[in-house]
Amino acid sequence: MRYNNHMKKDETRTPLSYPTCSAPKRAAVILLCLLLTLSLAGCSPFSRDNPDPIRFSDIPGFSQIESFFESLNQKFSDLFGDNGWTNYGQNTEQGEGGFTNGGGFTNGERGNRVTKDSGKSDSAEEGYQNGLAPQGSAKFLRGNVVLVSVYLIDGNAAFNEEELAYTREALDMAADWMETQAAKHGVPLNIICNQPELTFRYHADGLVNEAQKKVSFTYSNDIGNYLYHFDLKALQEAYDAESVGFLIFLPAAGTSFAYPYTATGNAIWDAVSYYEYSNLFLYDESAPDEYENPATYAHELLHQFGACDLYEENETDHISQELSDYVADNYPSEIMYYTYEDDDTSNFDEITKEMSPLTLYFIGWEDDIAELKQFPEIKRKYPCAFE
Ligand SMILES: [Zn+2]
Repeated sequence: MRYNNHMKKDETRTPLSYPTCSAPKRAAVILLCLLLTLSLAGCSPFSRDNPDPIRFSDIPGFSQIESFFESLNQKFSDLFGDNGWTNYGQNTEQGEGGFTNGGGFTNGERGNRVTKDSGKSDSAEEGYQNGLAPQGSAKFLRGNVVLVSVYLIDGNAAFNEEELAYTREALDMAADWMETQAAKHGVPLNIICNQPELTFRYHADGLVNEAQKKVSFTYSNDIGNYLYHFDLKALQEAYDAESVGFLIFLPAAGTSFAYPYTATGNAIWDAVSYYEYSNLFLYDESAPDEYENPATYAHELLHQFGACDLYEENETDHISQELSDYVADNYPSEIMYYTYEDDDTSNFDEITKEMSPLTLYFIGWEDDIAELKQFPEIKRKYPCAFE
């Protein structure tokens, strides 16, 4: 499932998120579409007023920074400290303080966000001019790619050791699978993830529930506020990586989803939504006693790099029902089509999925595919970018 961030063209600058969907949950999709329609008609429960219309103002967000540091200060060792997780406290001489600066990858004022202080105009092209576009922070699935893990701790909902270990294994499996696919297609790819200095804990009560709502401004605003404290340039330089993606791990059951970057033509919002992130629930909504499977991890990550959902019609991504049917007929193992096995079970041992030419095109691994003739509407101006 992927969501777009779009701006309402009004003075409140409330980000309007809308869903484009998930594999086995079509009823929910229809409901979401209905809610979107209601939202656009101004009568949605989600179209609330933004209490802070100048959220990304020229005041450099002190309260947001404090809450960020505060959250990281809350005994990181509770989560990672014991039983072999002590390596997470790599910067031991500084204790927890080592994490308050996120290993040097977070910042208070030096972020990539656009402020009035930056002297940039609020023009339609701003997002592009600021080096932000059009692919977002997770630009291309090639070369060195950094993935930052953020574990959301929400009240009593947290991760136990076994659950943490699973998320790390599943992420490794997804990364390995993507690297294997890349090698098959002659694309150099090295995914850097699960590193101690790339692992964070974010404490935010109530946010898991917001994430489960499918459409929540509270969630996307809160995570957006959190993420922009990461210094993308520092991450890029430290790992010699052009692309940086984020993963939010959610300690609950739900339908995982992703927020890839879509240029909105609004400088301020573009600067924030530029941080691309996948939201991974710990447990599968349709089988709550099972973990979200590794194929879903890969699916949600691929969204950050331009991959589209192919399991149904999707007007935003120019995916017609005809195209979706074509994928079902010709590439039933396509990972953007279905993340379960043919018998609808989850596979936790390996990812058996494949990338069809459609996904290879969307992520920029193929420039020209036969399907472009049959479905010219999917042709993109920029590789790996939603338009
Ligand atoms: Zn999806």
